[in-house]
Parts: sequence; structure tokens; C-alpha cells
Amino acid sequence: MENIKAKKKYGQNFLIDNAVLNGIIQAMPNNENYLVEIGPGLGDLTEKLVKYKDMTAYEVDTDLVSVLRSKFKDEIDSNKLELIHTDVLRTWESQKTLHEGKYDLIANLPYYIATNIILRALEDANCEHIIVMIQKEVAVKFTAKVNDKEYSSLGIISQLLTSDSKILFDVSPESFNPAPKVVSSILYLRKNMTNSLSGDFKKFLKACFSQPRKKLSKNLSSILEKSEISQIFNELDINDNKRPHEVSASLYSQMYTKVKNGRE
Ligand code: SAM
Repeated sequence: MENIKAKKKYGQNFLIDNAVLNGIIQAMPNNENYLVEIGPGLGDLTEKLVKYKDMTAYEVDTDLVSVLRSKFKDEIDSNKLELIHTDVLRTWESQKTLHEGKYDLIANLPYYIATNIILRALEDANCEHIIVMIQKEVAVKFTAKVNDKEYSSLGIISQLLTSDSKILFDVSPESFNPAPKVVSSILYLRKNMTNSLSGDFKKFLKACFSQPRKKLSKNLSSILEKSEISQIFNELDINDNKRPHEVSASLYSQMYTKVKNGRE
């Protein structure tokens, strides 16, 4: 492994299974979008991706950046590959998008910040497809639908912002070096490019799911008066006995609109 020791603090589990790498390539959407990779690592996935499209890769680890600079010298010199040495979350803090123009995100993500990265990508107006390797447990949450036991704010946000969300396939720990402790999945999300989340919707969901087994009305009592809750439930025909996982994404969105309008 080119004398590089994997760093736990950066979530480094390098993909060493060629069949999985090819599976990711086959899942690439056939379109004109630019390509962005987060965490190219030793560049095994990058090497395959850059054959298809021009791309930008964001890598935080200085040691890996120098390996990648020499490995991809030709691609960097010919502007096929732009390698950016940074913490990608900082880039999203300082600018709203990872690329000026429509792009697809394809990556084997560092698991310690995978949820955060996917949420950022969902809210990045230029990102259209997200095809990422993450912990299976998290992938299940992003694809969960109403009444599933894993249905939570991640499934709701994903449903409101995408037109398609699915797990393409699972990947066992042996496909990585070092092997992670968990099973992984390739998550596919296709954004609905006209939708966006308004205001403090994520905070609202956090309150709704603060105690997932309790009634939704009980959870909402931390942010709303009893009378407001009954009025909203009446108007939207929501039964007072509903638990948070029994209410559709669309109803959460309508509830939030009513809360916001009531406060303006
Ligand atoms: N793509 C490689 C592969 O498939 O073998 C490596 C994947 S490894 C799971 C995650 C990669 O993300 C590592 O290269 C790690 O250094 C990088 N990384 C971790 N945190 C990052 C951050 N905040 N910004 C950019 N890259 C990050």
C-alpha cells in the first residue's frame, strides 16, 4: 500500500476489491455532469473515474495528497483532474457549492462525517447525483420510508429533496484495508433539482424525533403550545396518537409551513 499507513482519524478504509470499484463505475449516471470525488485516498477509484470524465477530488490528508500528486501528474497537468487539499466541509462552509456547474458526487466516504457530507450535498444546488459508499446502517436511514422502523429525519429530508433513493448493493468489510467493523452499502440518490428545504426545517425535525417512541404531539410540545398542535393536527388530519415514524415526509413539510406561517 505504497508505505502509507491508514489514519483512523480521517476514516481511512481503502477499497481493495476491484469488483466493487467496477460496480461503482457501472452505477455512474450517463450524463454531461462534471464529477466530484471526496476522499480519493490512494486514488484507486479516482484512476477509474478520471478515464470517463474531468473531475475534482478533495483530500484532507497531506501524505495522501503527495502520493496522489505524483500518481496523477499527467492528469493534473492536462487539467483532467483538479486535486484540492482541504477539509471538504470547510469548503462547503466558505462557498455554497463544490463546483460551479452541475455535478455528480461519487465517493467512498470517510464514515465519521458521511451523514454530514450527504446532507451538504443534498443542499448543494449544483449536485445532481450522489453515489457514495457509507455504513449500511446510515444508507438504510437515508432510504427509509414512512412506517419503517429506521424512518427518521434523514429519510424525510432525502424524500423531500430526491426523486429516487436506493441502496445499490452491500459491501463486506473484507473489501477494504483495513477492514471496517461494519457492513457498507452503496447509496444512490438522485436529487429533485427544484426542491429545497426552508429555514429551520431540520431543527423542527429534530424536535419531532427528540423521543422517537413517544407520540409526535408530545415531542412537539417542547416547541409549540398545545392549542397550536391541535389546530395543526386538525387542519392536516393527523391523528393525535401518531408516533414520529408514522407521519409522511409531505405532512412534515406541511406542518412546518404552518408553524412558520403562524409565527410570521
Ligand atoms: N477513495 C479511497 C478508497 O476508496 O480507497 C479512500 C476512501 S477512505 C474511506 C476516506 C477518504 O476520505 C480518505 O482518503 C480520507 O483521508 C479522506 N477524508 C477524510 N476526511 C476528509 C475531509 N474532511 N475532507 C476531505 N477528505 C477527507
